[in-house]
Amino acid sequence: MKQGSISIVGAGPGDPELITVKALRRIQCADVILYDRLVNDELLAYATSGCLRIYCGKAPGQHSMPQEATEQLMLQYAAAGCHVVRLKGGDPFVFGRGGEEALAAAAAGIPYEVIPGITSAIGAAASAGIPLTHRGLAASFAVVTGSRCHGEGSPVRWDALAHGVDTLVIYMGVSGLGEICGQLLKYGKDPQTPAALIENGTTVRERTVTGTLGTIDKLAAAMKISNPALIVIGEVVKVREELLSLEQMIRSQIG
Ligand code: SAH
Repeated sequence: MKQGSISIVGAGPGDPELITVKALRRIQCADVILYDRLVNDELLAYATSGCLRIYCGKAPGQHSMPQEATEQLMLQYAAAGCHVVRLKGGDPFVFGRGGEEALAAAAAGIPYEVIPGITSAIGAAASAGIPLTHRGLAASFAVVTGSRCHGEGSPVRWDALAHGVDTLVIYMGVSGLGEICGQLLKYGKDPQTPAALIENGTTVRERTVTGTLGTIDKLAAAMKISNPALIVIGEVVKVREELLSLEQMIRSQIG
């Protein structure tokens, strides 16, 4: 029997062209693909017609397949000699539970590899014209989960983040946006700090809303921003406005 293997693969932030060459090659020779909700479906078309495609997506608050069941399937197919691609949105090791899957493969003694992907913070910010670092504005950034507001897991140190990092990018934060902004304000972050929400970043459905730490919550509700979306907080959000106004000026000069 041929030796099976597991590739834990990052599919990138949404635009199917933002996957790596290495990841695409693994999709092309996969026997089984276990893919998540945020993976662009177009990427599955690169697999062979004989490849088994299994959806393991989780919508926020719901689990179509529990993590344990996904890991079991991954191990079973690999043990049976298949090349298994575990295809995940963004990067597998950034809020993707890829670390748990690597541990499961290693514990089972199955050959595995991890192929990085462009995480949504990097992809969506670039696409929205927000540089996460910018000379004179931001020398550091942090990626943070917004879903730990309710006491599960290790708590996010909003007190430290309010002052210790120039740009904050918050994943899974839309439903807790009011609470997140409230925490940062409580720890003394300036309500005038620029803030943005990027919905469906890098895709044709991308929408960006900008405001301030004090206003972004109401703007998000008014614009009905929903998942997947990222919150970016920091002076760098102003660069987007600058880029847009320069582009507009050039267009009006040409037109
Ligand atoms: N491993 C993924 C993150 C998974 S957590 C990565 O590296 O990007 C899921 C969260 O990622 C979503 O709640 C949202 O905050 C963010 N996200 C994923 N894709 C996104 C996109 N195209 N636009 C905006 N946010 C996105």
